[in-house]
Amino acid sequence: MRVGGIEGGGTKFVCAIGTGPDDIEAEVRFPTTTPEETLRNAIEFFSSQERPVDRIGIASFGPLDLNPESPRFGFISQTPKVGWPNTDVRGTISRALDVPVWIDTDTNAPALAEHKWGALQGLDTCLYITVGTGIGGGGLVGGKLMHGLVHPEMGHMRIPHDKAVDPFEGACPFHKDCWEGLAAGPAIEARWKCRGENLPDEHPAWALEARYLAFALQNLILTLSPQRIVVGGGVMDRAHLFPMVRQEVVSLLNAYVRSPAILEGIDTLIVPPALGNRAGVLGGIALAQAELVGPVGLV
Ligand code: ZN
Repeated sequence: MRVGGIEGGGTKFVCAIGTGPDDIEAEVRFPTTTPEETLRNAIEFFSSQERPVDRIGIASFGPLDLNPESPRFGFISQTPKVGWPNTDVRGTISRALDVPVWIDTDTNAPALAEHKWGALQGLDTCLYITVGTGIGGGGLVGGKLMHGLVHPEMGHMRIPHDKAVDPFEGACPFHKDCWEGLAAGPAIEARWKCRGENLPDEHPAWALEARYLAFALQNLILTLSPQRIVVGGGVMDRAHLFPMVRQEVVSLLNAYVRSPAILEGIDTLIVPPALGNRAGVLGGIALAQAELVGPVGLV
């Protein structure tokens, strides 16, 4: 079985062919522009290879229609990204290359990759959170990728927002001060009038950021009881955030959840991605390799 993976991000696409993190034989990346141009670039990459692939998996930004019974399965539905609402990402690739294509979110697919090769191996209930241009979360519960009604939208949960401490109204176009609206990269930039990567480690932005991340992680720990949470994305490239977030989570939980993983092992409960920034495209490959692709996945 020869498979390809696509990381379909809001700013860049990555396409690769291979079997895992140590075996990528071809890879290309290009900026996300219009759906027509971007998907055409992806199709050209695969069709220009000497040997065709048998399956493709896509880790895509969304929201996505992931109901295999839906006529719009694999479409990006609503998105503030201009030109992309109602784009048939899965069907366009599948028809052009005449291969089965599976698709999942850009958090579920990396969770699968981390589960297969990275920091989530051997766990059956675990999360992958990304904190970057937006905030998203996915993962496995009881060994299965989370889907349900649509798919999780953890980034839009409500968290406490003390306007006396932080008068910033929030940056989410749908909810203003949801988690993403308070803590994603654009919120940091809008609040402090400076991009996050240019703020020094000791800037008060990071204590506030750690608190917002910890509020939501606490909610997720209490709701899903994950055995581990991988937190990736551009904002988390600031490694000093990890000890701050862990400390806040322990403080917020206040010794209520009586697990050694929280009382003693918080450093291994909340971790960066083992696959780094390759978790997305490897997630596409992991999806294509998985038994998730059945008849419902075919065009
Ligand atoms: Zn929101």
